[in-house]
Amino acid sequence: MDIYLVGGAVRDALLGLPVQERDWVVVGATVEEMLAGGYRQVGRDFPVFLHPQTHEEHALARTERKTAPGYRGFEVHAAPDVTLEEDLERRDLTINAMARDDQGRLIDPFGGQADLQAQRLRHVSPAFAEDPVRILRVARFAARLGPLGFSVAPETMDLMRRMVAAGEVDALVPERVWQETERALAGPGPSRFFQVLRECGALAVLFPELDRLYGVPQPPRHHPEVDTGIHTFMVLDQAERLSRDPVVRFAALTHDLGKGNTPRDILPSHHGHEQRGVVLIDQLCDRYRIPNRYRELARLVAGYHGHMHRVFELRSDTLAKTLEGLDAYRRPERVEGILLACEADYRGRTGFEERPYPQADYVRRAHARCLDIQARELVEQGLKGQAITQALRRLRIEALTELKQAHEARAAGDS
Ligand code: ATP
Ligand code: MG
Repeated sequence: MDIYLVGGAVRDALLGLPVQERDWVVVGATVEEMLAGGYRQVGRDFPVFLHPQTHEEHALARTERKTAPGYRGFEVHAAPDVTLEEDLERRDLTINAMARDDQGRLIDPFGGQADLQAQRLRHVSPAFAEDPVRILRVARFAARLGPLGFSVAPETMDLMRRMVAAGEVDALVPERVWQETERALAGPGPSRFFQVLRECGALAVLFPELDRLYGVPQPPRHHPEVDTGIHTFMVLDQAERLSRDPVVRFAALTHDLGKGNTPRDILPSHHGHEQRGVVLIDQLCDRYRIPNRYRELARLVAGYHGHMHRVFELRSDTLAKTLEGLDAYRRPERVEGILLACEADYRGRTGFEERPYPQADYVRRAHARCLDIQARELVEQGLKGQAITQALRRLRIEALTELKQAHEARAAGDS
């Protein structure tokens, strides 16, 4: 049998990027030979094995034939007579369809290296159209390699458009959509991922609540960029600068979903968009079974970003209630993520990109003061039950009033 290094490891090494994991393909072997060699079979649908020592993935060379819609609708043919070239041909992009043999020689039948040099994401063959997951992968590679100058080849974009028009994207299973989206959110250039989906029409199918934001106006005084879709992706870009956490970035992405169904007669005002947004976030998270940590932060940012921006104007009791609404006492660690997403929202506007966001620091101080006020002391004073809750709230409002007065005095002194 012959074993070749394939896929991302070959690509990333040629790009000078760190290699994260290595995938191998085995030519000329049977399942029985692999098992006899101590490999452990893991693939349910394909003959994929783990190496007995390195535990790296080794797949038998295979060809695939589309038999039904959806990503399980493949007939897989793995046998010792399948050649390396045939295996490479079923892969998605030319830059992912190169192999290296045990002498270190590059095998590149589809021009992957030339496409690396031209920074081109190009499909290997028309069989690309058989698996809609590839659209998500192309969008993700466009995001990840975008900073290196990569873009989607026009003929590949055309093919993706035709796939979307043919309804291929409807067959994607929710888990795969979220898996690729989460990886895109965690990596560089996440908004590029969504832009590529938009260009081929997949955004309207997969994330209609995002697609719909394009063309929705906002008041130019607060939003010189006007268009809510443009704003949303400026916010995601800012979130990328401010935090590596995909949970924060997701909250930034979804903070204004409610603007997508504002009644037309009140535009460009968006009264009530916060609550409408929370409903849409729930629908989105249900649809893709998005983990709760994403849903919870996104709901809070959608619901409270307006309060955060206006924190200097809030009454102390309103701020106290807001902190309660954010569950800031039981889940203090979450406040930082909320503030980062709100800062991204504030700076995600034309001309606001470098502006300071003093609101965040103020909320941090308000939160710290309120956290200092502990129920334990009230219990020691002999208070019980409801009386403790009421006394806590009263003491917090007092602390917030003090903070507000000090802030206003300082602001008056400055001017
Ligand atoms: P990453 O750095 O994200 O791991 P990768 O290219 O190695 O990138 P994998 O998911 O590990 O991605 O897949 C390994 C290889 O298998 C890819 O390089 C590609 O050749 C092929 N491949 C993976 N998924 C598909 C798919 N849906 N359609 C066609 N080929 C695929
Ligand atoms: Mg890989």
